[in-house]
Amino acid sequence: MIRKLLSILLFSCFIESNEVVFHEVNEVGNDTVEISFFLNSVSFIKSYSLENPSRIVMDLYDTELNSVIEESYNYPIKKIRATPQENNTRIVIDLYEYVYWVKPTQVKTDEGVLLKLQISRNKKLKSSIRDIVVAIDAGHGGKYPGTVGSNNILEKDVTRLIAQELERTLRDTEGYSPVMIRKEDETVGLNDRYQRVRQYGADILISIHADGFRLQSVKGASVFVWSEEASSTVANNLSEKQRKRIQADIKNIMPDDFNEDEARKLYPKIYNQKINESKMLGEKILDQLKKDPYTKIHKKNVEFADFRVLKSIDIPSVLVESGFLTNPEDAERLKGKPGRRMIARSIFLGIHNYFLENPIKGTFVEKKPLYVNYEIQKGDVLSEIAIRFGVTVQSISELNNLENKSIFPGQIIRINI
Ligand SMILES: [Zn+2]
Repeated sequence: MIRKLLSILLFSCFIESNEVVFHEVNEVGNDTVEISFFLNSVSFIKSYSLENPSRIVMDLYDTELNSVIEESYNYPIKKIRATPQENNTRIVIDLYEYVYWVKPTQVKTDEGVLLKLQISRNKKLKSSIRDIVVAIDAGHGGKYPGTVGSNNILEKDVTRLIAQELERTLRDTEGYSPVMIRKEDETVGLNDRYQRVRQYGADILISIHADGFRLQSVKGASVFVWSEEASSTVANNLSEKQRKRIQADIKNIMPDDFNEDEARKLYPKIYNQKINESKMLGEKILDQLKKDPYTKIHKKNVEFADFRVLKSIDIPSVLVESGFLTNPEDAERLKGKPGRRMIARSIFLGIHNYFLENPIKGTFVEKKPLYVNYEIQKGDVLSEIAIRFGVTVQSISELNNLENKSIFPGQIIRINI
């Protein structure tokens, strides 16, 4: 308890005012402009588009506005303006038309945190739209191999390969935009992992792991969401193992990081909503894992655990343990591409079903589409696409009139999932 109090005191010393300053507008492509602002530290931001008249709004929590922001720019931007609210700053981008936009990202630089918002002109739009951003966290990496499998396979490799498989599906499916918390075999600290989720503007986080246990017989996949009081014994054991590293990690939070622990106290309602949404997302993924003929299930309900990577106050976060590498059957399944692909597919379908039920306004799922648009990649074959989306080749052929026709890179096909 005393340690907890001390750490709160320490954190409070770091908290200084977070000031919003306009930076610039840049043309970053033929039809794309980037509007940027400076902040002192990474902020909790809610962003959304509004219609009649068209505008994009960013509410920057616990920030200060000490100088007037009122800028004009070329088409389609009418005006960039900001108004102080109680503890927040509201930035409004007034627009002449509807736009495709990218959720704001926050990049740490030497001069401060650069908040960037990208807007693209698109004459065809009848309302503003953006992609759903999915952060994918491949567990461990670099000098931390995680669990070593009974067949000598390393957890850090399994998690990276499943993450890449999921990334590929999301990237090539219209309306989704994946961001990888780690791309290669690199060491990323726990703080950096959840900090990056916020910096990338993610809507949800999926953290991918594989289990280890002293008993070889224990097997199967399970799904976790964060809780301060871990509810399952297995989860408690795992958290115990990580405890020392975690405590060292907590001390490493930087002054320009976002303090999730502090924010959780300030915004309990937002946090409770996030816990509920995480559970829903976890259940959707677990439902799919249960349907997967290759994967056994370890725990039939979504479990709670003290996995720090999941602790964002507002971003629904789920951790998928794809199986026990200490179990020979699971280790063999996860060593092979088909086994890993099944985990990635269950996660993707779970994510999609979650958003169909809880659509974010201004994204493609809002109209509850019966299919997704997939862009054919070089080397794609229909049978493999069918496996990745959990549908039959026949259903894809019929929906897209592909009977006796070949597919080509860049072609957009519909897949009813
Ligand atoms: Zn792990």
